Amino acid sequence: MEHLYEKDPLIQKIAAAEEICWINEKKRSWESARDQLPVTAEEIGDARERLDRFAPFIRKCFPETEPENGRIESVLTPIPGMQKTLEETYGCHIPGALLLKQDNALAVAGSVKARGGIYEVLKHTEDLAIEAGIITGEEDYSVLASEKCREFFSQYKIQVGSTGNLGLSIGIASAAIGYQVTVHMSADARQWKKDMLRSHGVKVVEYASDYSEAVKNGRKESDADPKSYFVDDENSKNLFMGYAVAAGRLHAQLDDLGVTVDERHPLFVYIPCGVGGAPGGITFGLKEIWGDHVHVFFIEPTQAPCMVLGMATGLHNQICVQDVGLTGITHADGLAVGRPSGFVGKVMEPLLSGEFTLEDRWLYEYMRMLWDREDIFIEPSSCAAFAGPVRLMDCDGTREYIQKHGLTDRMDQAVQIVWATGGRLVPEEIREEYRNTRL
Ligand SMILES: *Cc1c(COP(=O)(O)O)cnc(C)c1O
Repeated sequence: MEHLYEKDPLIQKIAAAEEICWINEKKRSWESARDQLPVTAEEIGDARERLDRFAPFIRKCFPETEPENGRIESVLTPIPGMQKTLEETYGCHIPGALLLKQDNALAVAGSVKARGGIYEVLKHTEDLAIEAGIITGEEDYSVLASEKCREFFSQYKIQVGSTGNLGLSIGIASAAIGYQVTVHMSADARQWKKDMLRSHGVKVVEYASDYSEAVKNGRKESDADPKSYFVDDENSKNLFMGYAVAAGRLHAQLDDLGVTVDERHPLFVYIPCGVGGAPGGITFGLKEIWGDHVHVFFIEPTQAPCMVLGMATGLHNQICVQDVGLTGITHADGLAVGRPSGFVGKVMEPLLSGEFTLEDRWLYEYMRMLWDREDIFIEPSSCAAFAGPVRLMDCDGTREYIQKHGLTDRMDQAVQIVWATGGRLVPEEIREEYRNTRL
């Protein structure tokens, strides 16, 4: 045995690509965790206000956001039909209400990346414009959509490494503002995503290697150019805060539906995890609102469970899935990440309830089921989240967790949210291809 972690039965299961359910023993009460975190509620507020300032600009740059007045937000949809079909098909029990947070339908980028990715591009845009004296930060930001400003932004470059969706988000948004954009795409990225980006005038550099390599090269190329800005998915606090804003908006949506979350009505949230930024940011936002009443689980593919590997070993970004013999290759292209964000893993340590991993074949089964029962299409990566409600009451670990938290009798009043993370931009013929994929 070369490493201590190799003796851990859980790590052995992960290394054997078995489906696991992991409970985070380092989770603490919100009360004791909140003051130790390197991120604050003020920073979320700052991000929310910045997005509000930019709303008139977003509205002008992206006419599809007109009905929402320049706010990029998704609906929260009850899915009782899906809940019933899951129960009948798999013989599981899904207590309480099951809802779908539809980030699959977000404007501009068609995925959860519309939150963090676009936010970071806007933040950079504001920084540049203020520095150049174009705005002071007080005026109506729609001035930034003028031809003159486009010309100003066109001397700057934005670069990012991506498995696909982050590239789409950063690429489409940056190109619309006027930037030169280069997206460094890992081998997992789907062809249509590259094609779509090129149609927006984005330069796409393709790598035969995985996501971490694409990021490394992108960062290097960007650092060599003083007018280039690199969106660093592995370490970016800006991305994280853009994602975190989602929670406050979800709160308002639950209120609108008349749904209460409190001690007697626990909230369970399931989010697919790649490098960790999106699910991590959302989790932090949720904790800031509901503290111990919200229980968040991440879901990863069995071949690319980088976050659970980093968190369970405590090694975070010092370990990758290849270190334990996994391939990192999965149909869940948005989750095909071999090494987790160290920044996010450490923030999640006292907050995250646990993780599920799943085999790829479920992605397509859940996808077809949701399509048939609720007439909603979400992309395969996104479907990973359904493993949460399906297995919550079935795994020893999660059952114990529920008991330990005194929730056994409260599960019938629970609210369970599956976070759908992408799908809107998937072309019709690719949807059909997915529909017919059986593993
Ligand atoms: C990026 C992505 C995720 C996960 O986000 P990370 O920040 O990489 O953890 C989940 N689902 C989809 C569809 C994505 O594109």
